[in-house]
Amino acid sequence: MKTGSSAAPGRATPTPPDALARKAAALDAADELARHRDLFALDDDVVYLDGNSLGALPRHVPARMQDVITREWGRLRIRSWEESGWWTAPERVGDRIAPLIGADPGTVVVGDSTSVNVFKALVGAVRLAGDDRDEILVDASTFPTDGYVAESAARMTGRRVRALAPADIPAALGPRTAAVLVNHVDYRTGRLNDLPGTTAAVHAAGALAVWDLCHSAGALPVGLGAHGVDFAVGCTYKYLNGGPGSPAYLYVRADHQDRFDTPLPGWNSHEDPFGMRAAYAPGKGAARGRVGTPDILSLLALESALDVWDGVSIEAVRSKSLALTDFFLECVTAYVPAGRVTSVTPEPAAERGSQVSLRCENAGDVMRALIAAGVVGDHRRPDVLRFGFTPLYVGFADAHRAAVRLAALLS
Ligand SMILES: *Cc1c(COP(=O)(O)O)cnc(C)c1O
Repeated sequence: MKTGSSAAPGRATPTPPDALARKAAALDAADELARHRDLFALDDDVVYLDGNSLGALPRHVPARMQDVITREWGRLRIRSWEESGWWTAPERVGDRIAPLIGADPGTVVVGDSTSVNVFKALVGAVRLAGDDRDEILVDASTFPTDGYVAESAARMTGRRVRALAPADIPAALGPRTAAVLVNHVDYRTGRLNDLPGTTAAVHAAGALAVWDLCHSAGALPVGLGAHGVDFAVGCTYKYLNGGPGSPAYLYVRADHQDRFDTPLPGWNSHEDPFGMRAAYAPGKGAARGRVGTPDILSLLALESALDVWDGVSIEAVRSKSLALTDFFLECVTAYVPAGRVTSVTPEPAAERGSQVSLRCENAGDVMRALIAAGVVGDHRRPDVLRFGFTPLYVGFADAHRAAVRLAALLS
């Protein structure tokens, strides 16, 4: 256990060497992903459980960025668009993300924020669905930006939005449904929504499915291709560790690409961008999802950060993620006095993402104190403590230590 010795005065007491501590040590010793932790810049005396909000920095990224800035930008300057591969980076980095979300090469492009990509995907889906379909169904518990963008997309396309609990969506589908927008994992509760079943139901109704993968990509297998998902978007600064504000991605199913009518036809998506023609003509493949000049520094930091996934199986990540969240809940139950917290994260593995959300009185104050005690999670108003488990760099001893320190605060 890497605990105790670095505790500052006033911090929680060191972990007792009890049965759960021994179990944590055994689980860490058997963990084939444990060695990945060394790839990240982390502090030994801090348990970082907020990688679902901002992934940790892979240690090798600063050296790569030093080269990008001093050589590619500083010395090659404009030549880098060609010679350093800047121009094609959105598709190239998309192909690095594709295997993590079960997508084929050539179907993912990186650029813009998730919010902007939700707009492109949703309007694109509605346009493909046809004029007689006037409803967009939206996950009622969605991350707010998706809901705001859906309202605007509906107004612009002459549709109306209906917000429903994800589980109620299949029964609400019909000949009026144009498109359905759902978060794969609920950011507040950590609930994993049923992507295969919902997508199949959406298709049976003749509509299109748009999934937001912000809290699933890099944490669990998504299977976009296997489940025939039409459009998907996601951010790269959470489980993919791309850095603050790193660009998001857009997935368009291969057989939709030629008909994808983007609502943001910027010059980067033109079939001949440097032709500088007055009339728009859409480019082919994933590049059609581009808009304007890519954010090269962030994009290349993301590209470098993705090296940590080399040789990693997303199935192994999922097994460890479930084991971590199970073990954390076991420790919370064992240490935290009864009644102080209630888990709002579903118990069944098939319904759980990679976080644990605990309802707790004065959650904001509790999280502030917990962070001061060296356990970094976050708080979602009004009363939820969120703990994100990123299997590449969080271990079982971390989960144990987090529960012990939470218990010390709540006792
Ligand atoms: C984090 C998150 C976003 C963030 O969108 P940005 O445009 O990157 O700010 C969107 N949707 C979901 C579901 C998220 O979890």
